Amino acid sequence: MSIRRGLRVKLRKNIAEIPEYVPGRSVEEVKKAYGLERVVKLASNENPYGCSPKVYDVLQKVIADLKNLHIYPPSNPTDLLEMLSDYTGFEVSRIVIGAGIDGVLENIFRLLIDPGDEVVIPIPSFPYYHTLAAISGAREVRIERQKNFKIHPDLPRYVTDKTKLVIICSPNNPTGNDEDVNTITEVIERASEVGAAVFIDEAYAEFSTQNLLSLAKYENVIVARTFSKAFGLANLRVGYAVMPEWLRKEYMKVSTPFPLSSLAIEGAKAALLDVEHMRWTVGEIVKERERLYSLLNEMGESVKVYPSSANFIYFETVKPASLIAERLARKGVIVRDCSGFIGCSDRAIRVSVGREEENELFVDVLKETLEELEVLDKPRNLEDVS
Ligand SMILES: *Cc1c(COP(=O)(O)O)cnc(C)c1O
Repeated sequence: MSIRRGLRVKLRKNIAEIPEYVPGRSVEEVKKAYGLERVVKLASNENPYGCSPKVYDVLQKVIADLKNLHIYPPSNPTDLLEMLSDYTGFEVSRIVIGAGIDGVLENIFRLLIDPGDEVVIPIPSFPYYHTLAAISGAREVRIERQKNFKIHPDLPRYVTDKTKLVIICSPNNPTGNDEDVNTITEVIERASEVGAAVFIDEAYAEFSTQNLLSLAKYENVIVARTFSKAFGLANLRVGYAVMPEWLRKEYMKVSTPFPLSSLAIEGAKAALLDVEHMRWTVGEIVKERERLYSLLNEMGESVKVYPSSANFIYFETVKPASLIAERLARKGVIVRDCSGFIGCSDRAIRVSVGREEENELFVDVLKETLEELEVLDKPRNLEDVS
């Protein structure tokens, strides 16, 4: 049907500045584009082993028993909150749940940010932070990270009376590094002096040896986690956060009353009943991550690879990331070209750690691509090094 012409509705001013979201390419799309039979996607940091099989068992039962889709889900799913309390070690009265960390962070912006307020973001980091800052009309204070991607030690100097929120991602997406607890603590203490909140995004906590939940002891700190990565439930959209009790009360005012469907609630509960499965997948992924890191490291000068505490690896090659990503896709491997991320170089690529055979394929096609571009070093002869 054609649309009746008239004046277009007036959008909020800041919407024009938000770049359109360009999703990664799907396996189907790449198969079709290049006539490939086998394509692996290592672009969205999904868990290649999937969630606990018990989640599917439970969900099948839930669906079989479903007679109540016309009834709203519980707005306060007590069982799930109690299980999260056991998992995190924090009281139920300090935990919120949302539609992924994305959903939780949307509420944090709604809770804290008036137009013109300052949000401090070390860059590069997770792109959605910038989207939310733009939507809310915040003034972004972007602080470039150091060479090893740790937060710049001067960051606390940029936390002022105008600052409402500082966002720290650790392990950081897309760079993979953990942040030093001392640095974060300095940021928290500075933020506390001016009444600013610190949002710690620990989406990848389970893959790291570091656990930042204890920082939730501070009155101005929110620590967020998700079921999307280590628990392998990206499709269910379940995230949660720990914050002070008084802040949780305020948070509940701005949250949608029914953030999670019953399927999401029951799926998350089933995942928490089989934490062993999650820990097993994390063990496999961490082993593969270290192996993949070594393989990339052995490629010599044409690849610069960074250590990771997450389920992905960040690296730069001597050629533009868009070119490399396109060539890899033609050979059946989808990686994330990070050249469009704020604060990344045009050489930056993020590859998710897959299963062994997927990682093998990735390494093979990357080598092949670098050879075709004639930038792969001859294998280094260790005996030459004195
Ligand atoms: C994947 C990711 C998220 C999104 O998590 P959801 O819980 O799926 O919304 C948030 N933060 C970071 C750093 C991520 O990488």
